[in-house]
Amino acid sequence: MRLKLKDMGKIEAAIVTGNTLAAHAGQAPGSGIRDPQNQDWRRLWRDSVTDPRELLTLVGLENLAESILPRLDTGFALRVPRGFVARMRHGDARDPLLLQVLPQAAELDDVAGFGFDAVGDLDALTATGVLHKYNGRALLVAIGSCAVNCRYCFRRHFPYAEETAAANHWREAIEHLRTDDSVEEVILSGGDPLSLSTAKLAELTSALAAIPHIRRLRIHTRLPVVLPERIDAELIAWLRGLPWPVAVVLHANHSNELDASVTAACARLRATGAALLNQSVLLRGINDSVDALAALSKNLFECGVLPYYLHQLDRVAGTAHFAVDDAAARALVEALRVQLPGYLLPRLVREIAGESHKTPL
Ligand code: SF4
Repeated sequence: MRLKLKDMGKIEAAIVTGNTLAAHAGQAPGSGIRDPQNQDWRRLWRDSVTDPRELLTLVGLENLAESILPRLDTGFALRVPRGFVARMRHGDARDPLLLQVLPQAAELDDVAGFGFDAVGDLDALTATGVLHKYNGRALLVAIGSCAVNCRYCFRRHFPYAEETAAANHWREAIEHLRTDDSVEEVILSGGDPLSLSTAKLAELTSALAAIPHIRRLRIHTRLPVVLPERIDAELIAWLRGLPWPVAVVLHANHSNELDASVTAACARLRATGAALLNQSVLLRGINDSVDALAALSKNLFECGVLPYYLHQLDRVAGTAHFAVDDAAARALVEALRVQLPGYLLPRLVREIAGESHKTPL
């Protein structure tokens, strides 16, 4: 994981805050709801698989450890919840979920054109943990932690130790948003913003509610997919109480990620009135086929989620082996257009540093 030791203190603090608040026999803070799941997501988080050999053993591939695990540290540790591991096909070294999380020797390749800040995040920082790239929207890098470490992560080299908006009670982020009345929409990103305790999220939204030019809230999260237990009664109560229209943008790349627990989490989110969208990354060997992408769109819709973006891979060091060239990506989307109704066709885009919007391909 790209977490450094300094980050760990902040994460522990955020998680402990939530634990302390929820310590009263499952009482959801501020909600008056007893929630037996309340402690579960933190326990499941702590119980994640972090040892590549254990992961290979769990999926019946222990014999491959010597041949496929990198011999050097990739600098980005394995982390994956056990519920996500359970959705992997046993004995299949090409499983599309396994390949998203298992460290690979190819990550150590130095490939021209793949760098440490592929989408210009550092130039877009306007306050601690605040990225301002696009008109009317500001993105908060809320926290550096995620429940899963995706090997293709576009922020795997981001300096989270210095740049997390939740630090210092969100003070700098809130001050920036208060003084820039061009910002109508606040986007919570990370890391994964739902890795923060609900109390910490509520601290932010209480302050945002006092800023009249904020009109919408968007949450970018992979937690409903990889750790659906996070969508607990406390989080739902917080979402229901927000004063703005809310969009929750999930991140799933393959239909096998969407099991019954994810469907149930999406149903809980939809019941709050939030719009549910999904963005995927086009990944070689994982979802670069018409069948895989069509199944993903159809299954997302069955979960009440509309496909939004299909991203071309951000050219981040250590991820080149996932890249699909633009011509092949366009051909895939043209073939998908024949297969799917228009509302299930994601927009193929690339993020180009310095551009004022995502670039359609
Ligand atoms: S969930 Fe998103 S931010 Fe976290 S590791 Fe995966 S791609 Fe990166």
